[in-house]
Amino acid sequence: MELFELVTVNTVPEAIKAQARANTAQNGADVRFIAGGTNLVDYMKLNVERPRQLIDINGLSLDKIESTPDGGLKIGALATNSDVAHHTAVKERYPVLSQALLSGASTQLRNMATTAGNLLQKTRCVYYRDTTTACNKRQPGSGCSAIDGFNRTLAILGTSEHCIATNPSDQNVALAALEAVIHIEGTTGQRAVPISTFYLPPGSTPERETVLEPGDLVTHVTLPKLPAGTKSVYLKLRDRASYEFALASAAIVMKHDGGKISFIRVAMGGVGTKPWRSVEAERALVGKAPTPANFHAAAEIALRGAKPQSQNAFKVELAKRCLVHAMTQASQTA
Ligand code: SF4
Repeated sequence: MELFELVTVNTVPEAIKAQARANTAQNGADVRFIAGGTNLVDYMKLNVERPRQLIDINGLSLDKIESTPDGGLKIGALATNSDVAHHTAVKERYPVLSQALLSGASTQLRNMATTAGNLLQKTRCVYYRDTTTACNKRQPGSGCSAIDGFNRTLAILGTSEHCIATNPSDQNVALAALEAVIHIEGTTGQRAVPISTFYLPPGSTPERETVLEPGDLVTHVTLPKLPAGTKSVYLKLRDRASYEFALASAAIVMKHDGGKISFIRVAMGGVGTKPWRSVEAERALVGKAPTPANFHAAAEIALRGAKPQSQNAFKVELAKRCLVHAMTQASQTA
């Protein structure tokens, strides 16, 4: 780990100003906001991240979880993963999010990790973490060691010839199924970005993962109100039962009345370069009966564009089964 300067701020405008000032002085590359630090500090120890300055935002009042006037929920960027997972409104109205958070990391990490930090969680691709290897995401233009290397855990959806890294977060899969909106404040003002457009495909610039610009600060996330009677489930499949990333996961939000599905959202984790929502699978299920045959057909549609690598073809079938199980569970609780 290299030496860095630590700056503490107490308000959002101060944080944005500090970031903008540092970006101007240091050409934008070496300044990071830090909150829980569960991801960033790891990467600093590995010399993958080498910031010259950290802006400590833990003093900002961004840790509230509160209902919105329209019946949705507002989650502060600094709300910890533990606080969100155990919040009554989340458990009762958005259980898929609580389940997703509790399936990730450990209690100690969840007590420190924040909502915004989890949104920006870095890939676990082994080459990204190893500075002796080629990795386009860590060092643009250096190549991708994973394509002909260890890729068992990496993505089968949304990949490019430049990067096949998987988004590792469980939280973000649930947020994709819940159609979360990411609220951002920066030097040009405030804006709200749907999670469906927050993450960028790797394309030829895998180092650019989101629409965030230098100086942007995520302030909170909002969840829209769900139709009354909607149930949701998060199912995660992995190599071991705890403290492990998903090989495939599914977040399903479903309502069915009178034997027909009237509302459904389908998202997958562990298989995509970003939290992967399948609008096509949703379209295939609306108006249909919640039957195994229809769930299998929707799962086939969801994985239609999958491009397995040399070691992860098993993920195609695993993800389909994960989806079918999760849909079945959601339909039985609905
Ligand atoms: Fe780097 Fe992406 Fe290739 Fe992994 S998959 S080595 S993160 S470019």
